[in-house]
Amino acid sequence: MTIYTRDLLPHTRSVRANGSWTPDSRIALSAQASPNFARTWEQMARYSLQTYRDYLGLPGNPIDFRDNFTLSDTPLDAADHAPAPTDAGKGTFATTGAPQSSAEFASYAGLIADVTPAPELLAGADNPFPVAYARRTPLMIYNFGAYSHLLLSEFHQAGGRIVIREFHSPADLADLPERVVINCPGYAAREWWNDKSLIPVRGQTSWLPPQPDAPYALEYKGVAMISKSDGVMIQGYDMYGLGDMDGVGNSFEHADRAEAEKAVTIIGDLFTRFQPRNG
Ligand SMILES: Cc1cc2nc3c(=O)[nH]c(=O)nc-3n(C[C@H](O)[C@H](O)[C@H](O)COP(=O)(O)OP(=O)(O)OC[C@H]3O[C@@H](n4cnc5c(N)ncnc54)[C@H](O)[C@@H]3O)c2cc1C
Repeated sequence: MTIYTRDLLPHTRSVRANGSWTPDSRIALSAQASPNFARTWEQMARYSLQTYRDYLGLPGNPIDFRDNFTLSDTPLDAADHAPAPTDAGKGTFATTGAPQSSAEFASYAGLIADVTPAPELLAGADNPFPVAYARRTPLMIYNFGAYSHLLLSEFHQAGGRIVIREFHSPADLADLPERVVINCPGYAAREWWNDKSLIPVRGQTSWLPPQPDAPYALEYKGVAMISKSDGVMIQGYDMYGLGDMDGVGNSFEHADRAEAEKAVTIIGDLFTRFQPRNG
């Protein structure tokens, strides 16, 4: 088996992600997904979960779990994740060629609720955070360094080889000696295959030094923080009240220091609210 690729891990887009198992996050638009897609998605998600379970507990913890705390100063209820209603004036993907509101994104998580951990509200003394409302949900995460290393090691052990090569058009694939080619160039498929249904969804992840003594994750005011073995990841995913529309349509790939600092400041302000311990 041969992998032909322009970039190797860790220099691929995947390693710039938040790195949590969120299989239905902005995966499709309800109106555009085919009638069978929900069922296909469910099969893929169940298979994925089963596969990753075998990677738990390995040296370096390539796949791990964190308690993820959703924190809020106002009551947490179903409304906090309810998408804003569609704004008729803005149109939809069908009329503009791009999604215009969070309500257009499909939500499939309920299809696998029987195998994913249920959230638990933390009341009174069970809530250790300096906010009025907290909820805990175990979250599967990827430690990119250990996971990349494991994938490449397994591939080489199985006799795979890697060829660094850049393709420029679908016709280039016909030159390959292999009879079966699985083409998965990620976002590059938009230009490569002229597939304009693939839309960019930009995000900004910032990495602080690892803090192994604080192995948990949290979400507060539209910012996610995950403490992993290779660093503390901080990502603003909804700092401007846009919901799932945050970053949609934005293909800008460079680091944005101002956005990173805004996200880090939100988490920093949260932690300054902790009461100092005596002694
Ligand atoms: C900020 C942010 C946070 C995210 N967080 C999460 C998350 O928590 N959970 C989640 O599930 N998803 C998350 N995502 C989405 C996730 O990162 C992507 O869906 C995923 O990484 C895509 O993986 P891929 O293998 O398809 O593409 P890529 O990782 O982009 O890999 C594509 C490969 O194709 C190669 N390639 C591309 N073009 C060519 C060419 N012309 N010739 C040769 N080789 C080529 C590249 O070198 C690369 O090796 C996030 C995305 C962002 C931006």
